[in-house]
Parts: sequence; C-alpha cells; structure tokens
Amino acid sequence: MTTVSRIDNPKFPELHIETGYENSNPADPARIQVAPDGRFMLRQHLEPNAPPGYSFHLNVAFVNAGKTALGVPLRIEWGEKQYDWCRNHMYVGYDSGNDWQMIAADGHAGITDMELIVPPGRHLLCVTPIFTLADYRAFLAEFGAHELVETVEVGESHEGRRLACLRLGKTGAPKAVITTRAHGYETACAFCMRGWLRKLLAGPDAYRRLLERMELFIFPMINPDAVAAGNCCLAPTGVNFGRELALSSDRDRGAKALNDFILGLAPAFYMDMHNHTGGRLLDSFRSNSQDLVDAFNAVAPDESRFQKVWDNYAKTYVPGYLTWECTERFGTLRGLTEFPWYIRLPADMEAFGVRFFDALMPLVAERG
Ligand SMILES: [Zn+2]
Repeated sequence: MTTVSRIDNPKFPELHIETGYENSNPADPARIQVAPDGRFMLRQHLEPNAPPGYSFHLNVAFVNAGKTALGVPLRIEWGEKQYDWCRNHMYVGYDSGNDWQMIAADGHAGITDMELIVPPGRHLLCVTPIFTLADYRAFLAEFGAHELVETVEVGESHEGRRLACLRLGKTGAPKAVITTRAHGYETACAFCMRGWLRKLLAGPDAYRRLLERMELFIFPMINPDAVAAGNCCLAPTGVNFGRELALSSDRDRGAKALNDFILGLAPAFYMDMHNHTGGRLLDSFRSNSQDLVDAFNAVAPDESRFQKVWDNYAKTYVPGYLTWECTERFGTLRGLTEFPWYIRLPADMEAFGVRFFDALMPLVAERG
C-alpha cells in the first residue's frame, strides 16, 4: 500500500512536497530533505537490479497553499551519471498533471540543480508527462464502450492489477498485437494509441480496409505493477517486461498471463512500443523485416517540427523478448518503436500517434 507523505520547508511555510502516492518517485519521504538554505534535496530512486543508467523517472507534487507563485530551489540526485545529457529538460504537470509544459533543466555528474516556479495549487515535477493507472482504466472504459471494440480481460498482474486489452477488427483475420508500457516510466506510446483510436473510432469508414483485414489487440499498459511502484524499468518482481517477458512466467504472474494470452493468439504482427529520453534522440521504428522498414521509410510522417528525423532499421532481437518468441513459433512479423517526448506535449504525442499508425498499419495489413 502506498502512504502519502508531506515534506514541509521552513523557508517556504506555504509550500510542501507530496510523495508516496501511486507512481511517485522518490516515494520514500526519507529521500526528500530540506537543506539549511531552504533548498529541497531529492534523491531519485532507481530500483535494484535495473539496467545501469535507467533512472529516468521522477514524479513528486509541489503544493503551494499560498496566493502567489514561489521560486523554489531544488537539487535532484539521479540514480546514475551516465545520462546527464538526457536531463536537459523536465516536465511540469500543472494542476496535478492536467496541463503539461516542458522546462529547461541541466544535469551534471548525476545532479540537477534548478529553481522551480510553483504557482498556487498542486503541480507535478516529472521527467515526462505521466499516464497513470487511472488513465489506463479511463482508456479501457472510453474505447471499450464503442460498438466496434471488445474489452478482453487477460488476467491479473503479479500484485493483482487488471491486465486487459482492446480487441477490434475482423474476428479470425490475422492478429496484430500492439503493446506498450513494458517499462514503467515509458508513457509516450499510450498517448499515441489514444490519439489513433479516437480518430479511428470517430470515423471507422476510413479504416474499413484495415479492420476487415486484421484483428487488433491493443494493450496500453502491460506492466501496471511497475507503474504503481514508480519504477523506471522493472516490475517489482524484478522482471524486465521489455527484455525477458518470454522467460519470466515462473517469476511474475502478470508475465505468465501475458505470455499465455499472446502466445495463444499466434499473432501475425506484434509491435512492442517504447520511449526513450533525451533532447537529441530520434524517433525509431525497427522490425525483423527489412521489407517493412523500407516500406515504412517511404511513408514515415515528417516529425521535423519536433526536432526529429527517423532512425529506422531491421533488427534481430535476442531470446527473452516475447516478440522474438512469437517469431520463433509463428513466424510473426515484429515491430519495435522508440519515441522520445522532447518538445512534445500530450496532445502532440496523440497527433503523432495518428500519423504513425496511419502510415504503418496499412503496410502491416498488406503483409498479414
Ligand atoms: Zn522500454
């Protein structure tokens, strides 16, 4: 169970930090202290045994009970020093995450020093916009209510959270599985899925050919335990859902439920969607099929207004990836994406999702 904590600051009597809520990081109030000069000192939590350098999640709330904005000095100590260059920006979720803005930051030797302007109210400081378990439930409810969509209960996570996906398209047609949120902090592609599904379900006639040729299974969050814990990468069981899902049925009941369900589908196409963090990183689409990469390169949407070009290539994955296991068993066509947030806001990511899926999915359907 999570326990919400409040960290007061004698120099700023009207301001406190709140943490310990679902998805917060650091959740332990002992990792947030106040220096004698009034600076908040936060030590980011990187879960044990995560890959080195993976400390890309932070989520704490600043609560200003006063009537005027405050400039608050703070220091963040990250779990590692390798990726300072990724920490040149952060995101503020004003009004508890209803309104996101990217802000400049600076990382040196695993430390970010900054001043945060905190308006009256409750506002989140995060590495990227968050997509919570409540957002996941709302996603399933919003789209599951549509007449073209069935909500499929896949099972429960190791800690008993719901694992579900949305099914649409022609029953019995070649199956396409699209998953995201293997890694707890990687929220981008749930927004991509949401944007695309809203467009698709608002005008399904434009997607008739796709819906007649494929049966889609869309998973907006396959690792809810990691999300709840505020982990960057691993499930609380220590399982890396990106890299070792196929090998982990005996260690994590959620992994077992996902393995059983997805292998039971024998998918013709399986795309595992990720995001990465950093200012200079590119959008990437990878597949085990050079033919699909070439076809996608010809239609990939122009993202240059977000300082992005595409970095797409054919890739053979290693054993342990469930996508790889599907190819071994069923000859599954695979995809993997890496989309960075940098400059984008949630609405931008939703619009990007429309452009991305509209470009890719007809190519997948042709190859089904
Ligand atoms: Zn990932």
